[in-house]
Amino acid sequence: MPKTFFIQTFGCQQNIADSQRIASYYVARGYQPSKTLKSADEVVLNTCMIRQQAEDKVTGLVKNIAGSREIKPKIVITGCMVGMAARDETGKYLNDLKQRMPEVDEFLPLEEVGFNYPALRNDLTHAWVPISNGCNNFCTFCVVPFTRGREISRPFADIIKEIEDLAVKGCKVITLLGQNVNSYGADLVKKDAKGYKLPNGKTVKPIMVKHLNRFRIPTIFPYLLQEVCKIKGIETVKFISSNPWDFSNQLIETIAKNPKIDRNLHIAVQAGDDQVLKRMNRWYTAKEYLDLVKKIKSKVKGAQISTDIIVGFPGETKKQFENTVKLATSADFAYAYVSKYSARPNTAATKAFVDDVPHKEKDRRFVILDQLINHSGNLRSAVH
Ligand code: SF4
Repeated sequence: MPKTFFIQTFGCQQNIADSQRIASYYVARGYQPSKTLKSADEVVLNTCMIRQQAEDKVTGLVKNIAGSREIKPKIVITGCMVGMAARDETGKYLNDLKQRMPEVDEFLPLEEVGFNYPALRNDLTHAWVPISNGCNNFCTFCVVPFTRGREISRPFADIIKEIEDLAVKGCKVITLLGQNVNSYGADLVKKDAKGYKLPNGKTVKPIMVKHLNRFRIPTIFPYLLQEVCKIKGIETVKFISSNPWDFSNQLIETIAKNPKIDRNLHIAVQAGDDQVLKRMNRWYTAKEYLDLVKKIKSKVKGAQISTDIIVGFPGETKKQFENTVKLATSADFAYAYVSKYSARPNTAATKAFVDDVPHKEKDRRFVILDQLINHSGNLRSAVH
């Protein structure tokens, strides 16, 4: 009898896409997918660290699996928790994981459980296609640069080939995935004395970001979108996540010109106060974000913007929170993922700031924004 495996995925869509590649790796080694976690010979937990709660869920599930089965299955942990351990040169985080979960047989980085395998997809109508992995931005609250490492773009041709194959199999909807899809290809464009060479043969200079007083490398995401839109059979192209500071004019024009590109655009703002944005290491002001939303809506007919917002970032005053409420009101978001700040290991915010907004106050701010953006009841008057 072939051995069976079960993958439990925590966290974001990127982890779900990774799990499809891990599944492919197990099948290539002769394993069969198990319908339930309870009957699997090997259980893989693909983990998330975005909040402490996500880590606690993994620890709880490990105890549950080990305690509820007569013969314990092999338990493998991968994903963000192992990514963090692999990049922690002190070895402290790995030791901590081993102490927390002695029942685990192996802690394996994604690369060792099939990250480079083709995805095994059950649903072929809508496919999630990773275009890059990791992030170079180091927003002070975010653990991703420590769990996934620096941004690496997949080769342009590999992505196109994967989508062409999916289209032949009947796939109609594609979502391109990356921590920041807008910066896709910054590591692929070739630099010479004149500047950066783009796929259309043009050479462009790095773009100066005035308020940061630094240069931004041109990226090739708009070209990738154009090529994906040309693939026969693909009807809708979506992408996530997209950051405001490199949402270029060229990207807006590309969206406007290609009706296949979804008009629902997710652009994380995180806060609407300039001081908070600065301490978050987000490279834009509230005004610049609102100007971008305005520009997109004026150029792309039917565009709807959704977002991510963190409430209770260290030091966020009531006044600063009110600025976020004001921005949310002006931006007229279609919806928002509102979250309460949670200190994450190794991040600059954890090292430099005190998590000083009381839980009760975080709850209050969460309710106000969630109601304002995601529910019909208008609580704007509740801000004081
Ligand atoms: S851009 Fe996104 S993934 Fe990268 S550090 Fe900032 S929040 Fe994290």
